[in-house]
Amino acid sequence: MASSKIQRQNQHHQKHSQKQWSIQDFEIGKPLGKGKFGRVYLARELKNKFIVALKVIFKEQIEKYKLYHQLKREMEIQTGLRHPNVLRLYGWFQDDDRIYLILEYAHGGELYRQLRKTGHLSERQAATYIASLTQALAYCHGKDVIHRDIKPENLLLDHEGRLKIADFGWSVQSRSKRHTMCGTLDYLAPEMVENKAHDYAVDNWTLGVLCYEFLFGAPPFEAQSQTDTFRRIMKVDLRLPSTPHVSSEAENLISRLLVKDSSKRLSLQKIMEHPWITKNADPTGTCSKFNI
Ligand code: AMP
Repeated sequence: MASSKIQRQNQHHQKHSQKQWSIQDFEIGKPLGKGKFGRVYLARELKNKFIVALKVIFKEQIEKYKLYHQLKREMEIQTGLRHPNVLRLYGWFQDDDRIYLILEYAHGGELYRQLRKTGHLSERQAATYIASLTQALAYCHGKDVIHRDIKPENLLLDHEGRLKIADFGWSVQSRSKRHTMCGTLDYLAPEMVENKAHDYAVDNWTLGVLCYEFLFGAPPFEAQSQTDTFRRIMKVDLRLPSTPHVSSEAENLISRLLVKDSSKRLSLQKIMEHPWITKNADPTGTCSKFNI
């Protein structure tokens, strides 16, 4: 049964980590959000007063959806990643009914909310986020971690406005389910919507989609129905509205990422060297209201 597997895994994990955490080590604060498999709370570690986000997942849900492997994957992948633009997973523990993930707290919340509030981002903000994402993905690809679910809902901001990729591990399997259920094909590369073999270049496509959405306020292949979005992605039916706040250099970057042949998409290295990035991205990766 999944829970006994989780227990064995946790015993192994506890043997190899310095500290065995429990809920008694934390003071629980306000709820931060609700995901498909549980809730996230602000929490403070009592001894060091360290602020974290505690993600609480019910084992029953994991068993019901047979997601034990994905959860284990999320925990293993995210524990091993150390990058300023990847949300840290400090550790995890469990009780009889729940699994708790101790996560870095992202004070700025979802990038998605910011985007919806302002309609679109400035070139400075957009370029800073794209550069942060590119660097985080280059780091992940270097560790053979590919194919993340990088859509605005999975991008969080810290207190300085620094972008953090969250939500590891679920992506691969829950992605197809989630997309058929909610009809969000928008971020998927042609080779993925067609169910073809794909590699790390799917992330480069998604960077193009996000860059477009940051600047124009909606994803490029948005349509009334899933079938129409599918058609538009397959045709790479890219329309770049002419607006004064989007430069031709930004359009150039977008059109060099949204390329059907995955081997012809701009590499992560080339994205970082692109004039739109070098001119606009804040080298500190921070985008607070003071330096937009
Ligand atoms: P999730 O279950 O990961 O989808 O999280 C549900 C919601 O909780 C997210 O959409 C965020 O708004 C919030 N949230 C998740 N993780 C964090 C975090 N580390 N810091 C702040 N808010 C978070």
